[in-house]
Amino acid sequence: MEPAQKALMLNTGIAAQAMTLDSASIRSEFPTLNREVRDGVPLVYLDSAATSQKPRQVLEKVERFYRDCNANVHRGIHTLAEEATTQYEGARERIADFINAGAAREVIFTGNATQALNLVAQSWGRANLYKGDRIVLTEMEHHSNLVPWQMLATEKDLRIDIIPVRDDGELDQSEFDKLLRNKPKAVCITHVSNVLGTVNPLARIAEKARSVGALTVVDGAQSAPHLPVDVQALGADFFAFSGHKMCGPTGVGVLWGRAELLQLMPPFLGGGDMIKRVYLRDFEPNEIPYKFEAGTPPIGEAIGLGAAVDFLTDVGMDAIWQHEQWLIKYALERLEEFPGVTVYGPAGGVRGGVAAFTLEGVHPHDIAQVLDTSGVAVRAGHHCAMPLHDRFNLVATARASFYLYNTRDEVDELIRGLYKVKDLFG
Ligand code: PLP
Repeated sequence: MEPAQKALMLNTGIAAQAMTLDSASIRSEFPTLNREVRDGVPLVYLDSAATSQKPRQVLEKVERFYRDCNANVHRGIHTLAEEATTQYEGARERIADFINAGAAREVIFTGNATQALNLVAQSWGRANLYKGDRIVLTEMEHHSNLVPWQMLATEKDLRIDIIPVRDDGELDQSEFDKLLRNKPKAVCITHVSNVLGTVNPLARIAEKARSVGALTVVDGAQSAPHLPVDVQALGADFFAFSGHKMCGPTGVGVLWGRAELLQLMPPFLGGGDMIKRVYLRDFEPNEIPYKFEAGTPPIGEAIGLGAAVDFLTDVGMDAIWQHEQWLIKYALERLEEFPGVTVYGPAGGVRGGVAAFTLEGVHPHDIAQVLDTSGVAVRAGHHCAMPLHDRFNLVATARASFYLYNTRDEVDELIRGLYKVKDLFG
């Protein structure tokens, strides 16, 4: 276990005794959480791993941008264009601070985590990988960190090696050690599993990858929203995440990469803004990060994401993580004592705030549908992790996922709803 994880576990012990966040005041910031989904049934939103709700601060920031200073960035010298550019670049700086990037120019705005990972595969991968080269993926990856590499592997005739998932939901580190002997060029791995909640020991994985000359490409879609991320301390080379899962708007994501790598990579998409000079038959690419931001970027969305990281920073990422540990511990206890329920993923210790489960004899879609009648929103399906479901011989699971605004009362609502499911399906 890494020292940071140990510290978090100790903190979790403290958090289990005392509530870490003022749930009532946090919840009052999220208008959606106050709505009813059916006549008189309050919403219990347990689907934040799919997308989070948005606090007032973010909604107002985006509205103010479009209302007061909407303009395109980087291309004008009029007042509105300058204001828009200042806000857009300001958001980049705050996001860089949020993940402790070495410099703001290492932060590239994309449409989402998926586009960020495709950018790495298509730009770095195409330029640096050759026939027969090996890349290591894991059995717990979201399709966003599998398919882009599979596409590249087909195109360039690469070999894909897979780190298996053990029965307890952790990666098999001894298999990883064996795969490293093949001298892979990249290790592409999720920080936190969106199904199992497994928190991978990234610093150790990145260090091992580096020792054989491989880069580490991290899917941080389920970590950046929930726990303190320091990309430099993790020792990763690329780190991708989505704004909409961390209180920000949809339509914006981030790719962080080490400047020296980004500078050497060819552009991914061509068009406006990504160029320094264009001739009829040639062009000179712009500096980073603009080299990778072709066309009009998601301006209002990036500014909204800047407001989201301000909000999360004010609450405190340590406190958010502790709160989620406190919640998931309780949720696991309640789910595991429920007759017929199987929960997947690590049984205890450090674990992200997601609980994917099955209920004997009931299809997960039926679970989600009946829970919805009690106002409880959970997701059912493969959660874009089909190979992981295959690994556990499952077609689908129901998944409850938690965030800073959830409470233990809402876990109780989930359990009450599950009794309703059990009653209906015998
Ligand atoms: N990676 C993980 C682990 C995810 O959970 C998700 C979304 O659920 C993604 C990647 C893809 O995120 P997006 O759809 O925002 O690109």
